[in-house]
Amino acid sequence: MDNFSRFEAASASDILAWAIDTFGDSFAIATSFQKEGMVILDLASRISAGIRVFTLDTGRLPDETYRMMETVRQRYGIPVEVVFPERDDVEELVAFHGPNLFYSSVPARQRCCDVRKVRPLERKLETFKAWATGLRRDQSETRAAIPKVDSDPAGRMKICPLADWSADQVEEYIARHDVPVHPLYASGYTSIGCAPCTRAVQPGESERAGRWWWEQDAKKECGIHFAPDGSVARDIAPEAETKEMHKGFTVWFTGMSGAGKSTISRLLELKLRQFGARVEVLDGDVVRTHLSKGLGFSKEDRDENVRRIGFVCELLARNGVVAIAAAISPYRDVRDEVRARIPNFVEVFVECPVEVLAARDVKGLYRRALAGEIPQFTGVSDPYEPPRAPEVTVNTSRETPEESVEKIWATLERSGLLSFDRSPLAH
Ligand code: SF4
Repeated sequence: MDNFSRFEAASASDILAWAIDTFGDSFAIATSFQKEGMVILDLASRISAGIRVFTLDTGRLPDETYRMMETVRQRYGIPVEVVFPERDDVEELVAFHGPNLFYSSVPARQRCCDVRKVRPLERKLETFKAWATGLRRDQSETRAAIPKVDSDPAGRMKICPLADWSADQVEEYIARHDVPVHPLYASGYTSIGCAPCTRAVQPGESERAGRWWWEQDAKKECGIHFAPDGSVARDIAPEAETKEMHKGFTVWFTGMSGAGKSTISRLLELKLRQFGARVEVLDGDVVRTHLSKGLGFSKEDRDENVRRIGFVCELLARNGVVAIAAAISPYRDVRDEVRARIPNFVEVFVECPVEVLAARDVKGLYRRALAGEIPQFTGVSDPYEPPRAPEVTVNTSRETPEESVEKIWATLERSGLLSFDRSPLAH
């Protein structure tokens, strides 16, 4: 921050003029069309006609914000660049925790902000050398120390030209220059974000009281802006968070072909990832094309395949990763051998009657195996030895994959392998 202390005495206009002149097209204004963002936009438009402006469309914005995008386009002739979250991230988030997870806890809300705001912002910022935002120091305690100009670890400038402005100064500028104002201010809003997470404030409440209003004693930030010292940082630090959230352990799915090992393991993977866990899945089919390429289907080769998967799981778990193995692994003795070698080993038996597997099997492999056409087909023409004492048994002829994941999750919790609180993100 010391390098930029000279900007503390500079006016908002001078700082913007410097940024536009220094960074050109690599400078942009980030705005959600609140009053401060509009003031910056208005100031910058008086300096240059070619400024870049971008906004995040979280998918949960109020209609009035879209109207503001159009207003800016018409009034200033600026094509607002709209940044969206990654589709896959949002689909996973909603599939696992429902569309309104943010009401259940602060971590759940931060997870939503991470997917819908922080990651898209980071992606967009990679294309710039400097960006401006409308933060002010007197908006909240978490903003009290923000510098006017700062740099992040990537060397990118974050510019808060209104850092030392009061709310009255903002109002006065808007009135003097007839700056367009977001319509929700007229309904008592003092800070505007996503529709489900923002409400009007009551007289006497702080400016940001309407943001995530159901949270008590939480920092009312979305993770985009500040570290406690006011420097540019992400609030959610996945790596640090992960260390506290789980130990390294192995979940070993065993069961016949088509029983549902891959489906359930992927669902479990997604759920763990939603909590910030580091997870790797070793799927039997994929492993056979890489790690175990060339191995056949004799007992020796099948055992060797299981030992190799076990070796990788052991390495991963030792380094704090959740290793998920999904492999038929038909022989009990080699499974037990792997279990004996790996600490924190959770065996999941994915059970399903052969007749159900045959009915499900669109490729007709079970039918052909039952007709004697396929040798060494596990469970039909080759042995499958069910575990005698698995930590979890799921039966996919009677349970949905989601129910199976719940059972496994409960076992992991009971075993003390998950150290995070499940309730916040429960759907
Ligand atoms: S403000 Fe609410 S809806 Fe918007 S990203 Fe954050 S938690 Fe999700």
